[in-house]
Amino acid sequence: MDFSVEFTREQLEFAEEVSAWLDENMPADMAPIRDAQKMSYEQFHKRRDFARKLGEKGWLYPGHPREYGGGGLGPLSGMISRELTKRNESLPIVTDWVGLAAPAILACGTDEQKKRFLPPMLTGNALTWQLMTEPDTGTDVANQQTNALRHRKEGEYFIINGAKTFVGGLHPPPEQFYLLTRSDLQAARHRNLSSFIMPANLPGISIQPLDLFPLTTLGGACGPSGATMEAVKNSVFFDDVRVHQSYLLGDEGDGWQVTMATFAVEHGGGGGISRNYMSDKFFDQCRNNPQLVKRLRDNPNLLDKVVDVYLYTQTERLLSIRNAGGKGGAYGGPHFAMYQKVFGSKYAADMAEVLGPYSFTDEGEWCLDDGMFEVGQRNSIAKAPGGTPEAMKIQIARALEIGR
Ligand SMILES: Cc1cc2nc3c(=O)[nH]c(=O)nc-3n(C[C@H](O)[C@H](O)[C@H](O)COP(=O)(O)OP(=O)(O)OC[C@H]3O[C@@H](n4cnc5c(N)ncnc54)[C@H](O)[C@@H]3O)c2cc1C
Repeated sequence: MDFSVEFTREQLEFAEEVSAWLDENMPADMAPIRDAQKMSYEQFHKRRDFARKLGEKGWLYPGHPREYGGGGLGPLSGMISRELTKRNESLPIVTDWVGLAAPAILACGTDEQKKRFLPPMLTGNALTWQLMTEPDTGTDVANQQTNALRHRKEGEYFIINGAKTFVGGLHPPPEQFYLLTRSDLQAARHRNLSSFIMPANLPGISIQPLDLFPLTTLGGACGPSGATMEAVKNSVFFDDVRVHQSYLLGDEGDGWQVTMATFAVEHGGGGGISRNYMSDKFFDQCRNNPQLVKRLRDNPNLLDKVVDVYLYTQTERLLSIRNAGGKGGAYGGPHFAMYQKVFGSKYAADMAEVLGPYSFTDEGEWCLDDGMFEVGQRNSIAKAPGGTPEAMKIQIARALEIGR
């Protein structure tokens, strides 16, 4: 079976340019980190500095418009993450939520908002957490309880009160929040919401890290470094936070449309071609680890699991190729996301059966591949980030014009 992708001559030449630049500019002391929960403050900021360097060239967001700080590189864009992957790295962690907020700004922001918000974000200078989920508002994201209400006397200010949870990432605070609120207590559902891109350090904001077991969904965490911003989540509290209306994204009351623009990307299956790094390493182990080679010879039922892992991960890859080629239709994104979440836990369990207890440790002499399988096992249980499989199925049904 051949699932390879062919690149054009132009893409391969650009890859060489990227590789030469990385030789010069990638910090030698940026250690590959499997378990991002263990990423030190120092290593975190090395990645942020590296992100700014990429940002100066437009290579942090290579596909975004050049006029706003992206690279405008179209089909060449994928070569940057490909070259980083070869060096055991992925795009620096600052990209996680800017990649979701920036398209919403492009789709719903005014020209002035695009010029003001996008360049700092796309050049790595404004790390922006996405704040939607609340203690009582998850799948039903329209049910916002965090109020942003106009100040009675100083009408150009909003006063924000409420709490968000399961949000953000490592080493707070970021520079900005992309925040969804309820801005009208009377208006109908979906017409009562407003979104903000706002500074994260205003008086009345407090951030409390959460101690969680998983990192993120399997796909995201299987990047070469495993390092993802999702490693730590937080609660964020707003206590009479005063925000000027110039931080509104879109118009007041547009929050639902802005959120849908984000979800189109978040549920869109990433847009890139998925490479399952953990399964690559798993097959390396099955071929080259002498103990495992023997175990597979002696236990044909385990071979069955190995082939299952191969079929699941190649199907995942084919779905991503379909979506990246624009052939997924309205249901392609949720279909890919649902497949990753449901079968991610299935093939992680199959891998554990094949590899045995080595899958569950990151201890030096016992672990395999720097403990990446241990991180992968933990990741595989997280199905909620970006929406649960059930939420994805509802969207698929809608795209098929079945049900509501
Ligand atoms: C690691 C991690 C990272 C996250 N990162 C972020 C972030 O950066 N920003 C952010 O805003 N949020 C984030 N979240 C929150 C995430 O978006 C929510 O957890 C998710 O939307 C589900 O909401 P919930 O946890 O409240 O579950 P609920 O909505 O309470 O759902 C509970 C269960 O009920 C099911 N269910 C709910 N409604 C329906 C329905 N209508 N039909 C069928 N089944 C239904 C769900 O599928 C699920 O199984 C993160 C969560 C995790 C775990």
